[in-house]
Amino acid sequence: MATLRFKAVHETLNRDEIAVVSKGRHSELFGADVFNQATMKQYLTKDSYKSVLDAIIKGDKISRSMADQIAASMKDWAMSKGVTHYTHWFQPLTGSTAEKHDAFFEISNDGESIESFGGDQLVQQEPDASSFPSGGIRNTFEARGYTAWDPTSPAFIYGTTLCIPTVFVSYTGEALDNKTPLLRALNAVDEAATAIAKIFDKNVSKVHATLGWEQEYFLIDKALAASRPDIVQAGRTLLGHSPAKGQQLDDHYFGSIPNRVMRFMRDLEQQCILLGIPVKTRHNEVAPNQFELAPIFEEANLAVDHNSLLMDIMEKIADRHHFKVLLHEKPFAGINGSGKHNNWSLATDTGVNLLSPGKTPMSSLQFLTFFINTIKAVNDNEELLRASIASASNDHRLGANEAPPAIMSVFIGEQLTKVLEDLENVSKGKLSPEEKTDLKLNVVGKIPEILLDNTDRNRTSPFAFTGNKFEFRAVGSKANCANPMTVLNTIVAKQLRAFKVEVDGLVNKKKLKKDEAVFNVIREYIKASRTILFEGDGYSDAWQREATRRGLSNNKTTPEALAILKDQKSIALFEEMDVMNKTELHARYEIGIEEYTMRVQIEGRVLGDIARNHVIPTAIRYQNTLIENVRGLKEIYESDFRKVAREQMDIIEQISEHIANINKGVTDMTNERKKANKLKTPEMRAKAYCNAVKPYFDEIRYNCDKLELLVDDELWPLTKYRELLFMR
Ligand code: ADP
Ligand code: MG
Repeated sequence: MATLRFKAVHETLNRDEIAVVSKGRHSELFGADVFNQATMKQYLTKDSYKSVLDAIIKGDKISRSMADQIAASMKDWAMSKGVTHYTHWFQPLTGSTAEKHDAFFEISNDGESIESFGGDQLVQQEPDASSFPSGGIRNTFEARGYTAWDPTSPAFIYGTTLCIPTVFVSYTGEALDNKTPLLRALNAVDEAATAIAKIFDKNVSKVHATLGWEQEYFLIDKALAASRPDIVQAGRTLLGHSPAKGQQLDDHYFGSIPNRVMRFMRDLEQQCILLGIPVKTRHNEVAPNQFELAPIFEEANLAVDHNSLLMDIMEKIADRHHFKVLLHEKPFAGINGSGKHNNWSLATDTGVNLLSPGKTPMSSLQFLTFFINTIKAVNDNEELLRASIASASNDHRLGANEAPPAIMSVFIGEQLTKVLEDLENVSKGKLSPEEKTDLKLNVVGKIPEILLDNTDRNRTSPFAFTGNKFEFRAVGSKANCANPMTVLNTIVAKQLRAFKVEVDGLVNKKKLKKDEAVFNVIREYIKASRTILFEGDGYSDAWQREATRRGLSNNKTTPEALAILKDQKSIALFEEMDVMNKTELHARYEIGIEEYTMRVQIEGRVLGDIARNHVIPTAIRYQNTLIENVRGLKEIYESDFRKVAREQMDIIEQISEHIANINKGVTDMTNERKKANKLKTPEMRAKAYCNAVKPYFDEIRYNCDKLELLVDDELWPLTKYRELLFMR
């Protein structure tokens, strides 16, 4: 009997209910474990509070003596809540978060034991960073790296540890993490967007990017997950036959949330609220055991930190409820995978959403300006955007007719398409008073009404305008949002900068009025962005052909998608915007490509192991039972035995055939792996893993899954899809 599988099923069915104790209203608990502005006001001196605010708002440096004061207050606050340790909390290029805890506890010079936390420890640390991926940065420069406090993301308490969000950089200043380039990109977009927003409102002095992510995930019982070596090692199932019932009845989406899952969600939400993550929405997703959680949007840097933190918390809370969270983009074949829509916009410090048309024609023109510049930015940099979401796991999802295709395009809806068509016909140069009035009344002025009933949403588009924000839907569920947010904000910043130069040129040299200049530049941008605009079905074959004709990229795999990072134009762009230098960008390319290789390599090994050590022995055991049976029938029926043993003999043969195919597949795959490992460059290895190793996965899986259907259920060692997806 398949012991582990049945034990896991038994455990799953006999779980005790884990009680969730409500600590109070969310509005009262919100941010209770965060050293936020309200808490700072209470704990800090006036001067030190001001110095933190100046650091947050203006990017000012915090002096040593101030840092000491802030650290001491932080420690007092944390200790009042039972905290014993502190850590710099950062996001190395592994994509997850890193922490190394130190106790406040110390022995002073005169031998006394005390609790201490100084400005030095708050502001800068030097973790032993040699084991984090650096893409060669530390080899060429300095071996050491250090973490430095990011005051724009408040410190928080997790468990009994005070966590201080930090950047992670090499001694020569190269970014070794995901946060540093993001902060630089947000800075770039702030500068560029503020300059444009000032055209419309002089009072604007800062623009920040906003991000609202929507996290999809699967939740399965811990014991069931642990019984599958592929889930344990690769985060997804590498084989498993589809169950009779999958998602075809559409009965899970927005369905009633199962009790056990609801308890997990409530627990998770309470923890999020305490940590200042403004979670708001929860629901069942399309696939069985798939769910979604979304917060109220926030400033992008904070939202990115919150999503990274969330993914960590989810695992811990899930564990308490005997669940395992699967954040992988494609844990199960044949049903939907998971994504993480990144809703993005720009907001001014005067409280205006720049992607939301206002009440006056002028504010609608401001909306159009940012709207069209964003489209142009995506048009000119679609390949970079594709690269920003590339990973071995997301490759399974993009283009699988459930998620956007690997082709980047922008959906804006019928009505805004019509507006752009009207704007394309604006006269060149100065506008007649009649034309101006007509534009303001009948085109631009109508936008707010239009958007009110902008209901046609195209779920197949990777980058869609949804009323007051763009929704980047191709981001993977497992991804750190920093990467796509860095690229998006950088390309928009670059575009807005170019726009400003053009508008200023028309105003200064051609003596156009500002609004005329804006109309003139917008007109040209619309013409130049036609390639990227697509309103049709992104899943269709016709779109694949049409996109090729338009010259859009269609990079289906990570090695293809990442290549753009080496392009001279990409390097120039990131350098010009002060987001990444050549070394930093190249490091990200190398890390991306090597991670890809390793992921596929691990999957190949796990699949080979399961196929040879679990599936084949089980199949042989069952085949032996059949042989035994046939032998017995022959004894009884003698020469007539074939009539009664036909089915058994047929299965015996089928089993042999599948075993032979699996054996050949695993052997050939292993040989290809060996060949790939010997290749000289990381790039060649990644391509070989992609094109020569990975194709064997399907062949091996096909034969294993066929055996699953043939072999006695009692013997089958791998927990089946129907158990993974429907038991809780
Ligand atoms: P859905 O896309 O699932 O239909 P909604 O349109 O209600 O859901 O919103 C999805 C997400 O968009 C939410 O997480 C919300 O916080 C976020 N969002 C709304 N407005 C903005 C904005 N201006 N900037 C960034 N995110 C936003
Ligand atoms: Mg959604």
